[in-house]
Amino acid sequence: MKDLQGKIKDRIQAAKRVLITSQIRPDGDAIGSSLALGLALLDAGKQVQVVLSDDIPVSFRHLPGAELVQTKADGEFDLIISVDCSDLKRVGKALDGYRSPDIVIDHHLTNDAFGTLNLIDPAAVATASVLARNMKSWGLTITTAIGANLITGLVTDTLGFRTSNMTPEVLRQAADLLELGVDMSTLYIRSLVQHTFQEAKYWGAGLASLQRTDGIIWATLTVADRKASGYTGNDDADLINILSSIDEADIAIMFVEQSRDKTKISWRGLKPEVDVSNVACQFGGGGHKAAAGAEMSGSLVKVQEDVLAATMASLQNIA
Ligand code: 5GP
Ligand code: MN
Repeated sequence: MKDLQGKIKDRIQAAKRVLITSQIRPDGDAIGSSLALGLALLDAGKQVQVVLSDDIPVSFRHLPGAELVQTKADGEFDLIISVDCSDLKRVGKALDGYRSPDIVIDHHLTNDAFGTLNLIDPAAVATASVLARNMKSWGLTITTAIGANLITGLVTDTLGFRTSNMTPEVLRQAADLLELGVDMSTLYIRSLVQHTFQEAKYWGAGLASLQRTDGIIWATLTVADRKASGYTGNDDADLINILSSIDEADIAIMFVEQSRDKTKISWRGLKPEVDVSNVACQFGGGGHKAAAGAEMSGSLVKVQEDVLAATMASLQNIA
């Protein structure tokens, strides 16, 4: 019997019309992995649709192939692939009217293996790293345009090669992509360093709300903060990365009000022994050991109370 890799290769080689999808609120790895695979399959002569439930944020629209992304699929497909997405719910509306994925390629610890063939490596720093490791053996060629997408996935999920799950393999993958001529410096700066004036104003509101209790630091961003700053997204504009640089804490939490009764929560584990995916799962979310999220119903105040209590309890378990 063929192993998983052989089966994935066969499905990819045989496919004529491929749908590629990823998670709602796509990040650099979700977008980079989707576009890298999409461009490679196009180069291999296949028809490809990259379907994401949410639009690509402005900060990733420079990526080669970004114009391929659509929010609704059209027609029939003999292969559906999900990349960098932990479960069917996280695909959002992208697969409405279609079957579950034939192939799931991912690195989320909380992935529930929702595909027919599931290549899930929780030790991988990014789905882009899983792709960089395997694409050639599936008969796909990594061009400079594809490399630009893969390096964006590597750089964003490792916060610039500095997360505690970094391995020599990841730096070798990045080195191979540099050898292809990928402009890592520009891609790194655009995806991780550059921010708009509105984003900085928005951070200001979040930082003004900063609080600390027993190893946890947290901040809140409201709909009113977005209005006042002129920030047009509905996320934290990566403020969580700034909270994560605060040395005194074990866990950083960001609460982003979505509407009067809905809040997006992001957790970051700031010490290697902390696993925040557990507490995120308690609230119907998921993610990785060091980075997880959830979306909760209820007033902001009630959500904060519940999340802070559960997160404190989770810290007591490891103390
Ligand atoms: P972020 O806090 O940046 O939104 O997400 C951190 C990590 O947790 C990402 O890998 C993301 O895929 C995952 N994540 C965020 N929100 C959710 C959620 O509501 N459900 C699940 N299953 N994973 C989430
Ligand atoms: Mn990822």
